[in-house]
Amino acid sequence: MKEMIFLNPVFTHNIWGGNRLKELFHYPIEGNDIGECWGIAAHPNGDCTIREGSFAGKKLSELWKDEPQLFGNIEKDRFPLLIKIIDAKEDLSIQVHPDDAYAKINEEGSLGKTECWYIIDCSKKASLIIGHQAKDKAELKEMISSGNWKELIREIPVKKGDFIQIDPGTVHAIKGGIMVLETQQNSDITYRVYDYDRLTDGKPRELHIEKSMDVITVPAKPVEELVLDTRNLEKNTLSLLYSCEYYQVFELNLDKTILFEQIYPFFNISVLEGEGVLNGKKIKKGDHFILPSGFGKVEVQGKLKAICSTIGDSSNFL
Ligand code: ZN
Repeated sequence: MKEMIFLNPVFTHNIWGGNRLKELFHYPIEGNDIGECWGIAAHPNGDCTIREGSFAGKKLSELWKDEPQLFGNIEKDRFPLLIKIIDAKEDLSIQVHPDDAYAKINEEGSLGKTECWYIIDCSKKASLIIGHQAKDKAELKEMISSGNWKELIREIPVKKGDFIQIDPGTVHAIKGGIMVLETQQNSDITYRVYDYDRLTDGKPRELHIEKSMDVITVPAKPVEELVLDTRNLEKNTLSLLYSCEYYQVFELNLDKTILFEQIYPFFNISVLEGEGVLNGKKIKKGDHFILPSGFGKVEVQGKLKAICSTIGDSSNFL
């Protein structure tokens, strides 16, 4: 049987971070400003090491280069996805990401960023920012330059278990109290549109207004096309949450045994609740791992919730 590839996450300290990664997920980290846990990542700003087994101690980026058969030999120059948990104690700045074409020209060949969120935890009255109210570019520019943020940004109520798709060009922000699992393209390019006029060490953080106005989509897509309530999804099966050019994301909500076949070039799993056993190996809340290419039959038993992902369905995997 092929080995599961368990990863040691990389953590980041952020001014808006909190302590739920320590308290809810029991990660052994110091500090009360932990904003992000990069669970499956092979990015220069965060490259996970393999936790155990034949490849213990290697970085995921090295494994991608040295052992391409583990990832179905797909023709991509880097591990294409990045999976992280974000714990926002404070509101994050309002941001937008470019697409591949814009990033390639303006960000030295970087990938653009398409991402999605699964809400792990939030307060009863939680909300976040997704999209804006401007009807065209002229109105967008007018509202941004006059600082009319209150009317421009679209804030919507959310609850635990909501899934939100964020295409490039979509204005978005997590507000304080929300914890999400983010599945995204392997990119770190973000344009900050608005930071609530906050000061860090006495100064406002840099904004990227020109680039933001270049890339923001007008008008924004309707909310119904971007948000999915997962509460009524079928249990004990891999439920597809979203499929696009870059990723397919699934929820696994399990309270008995299921069987499925790992048919993808690779299959990421992040356990968000509970514990269980996968092909004889114990898995628990906070574990992030990859089922490699050719892994074959998968049997999972236990009571757990996980978010899984693989590359997009229009990519050239065989
Ligand atoms: Zn983002």
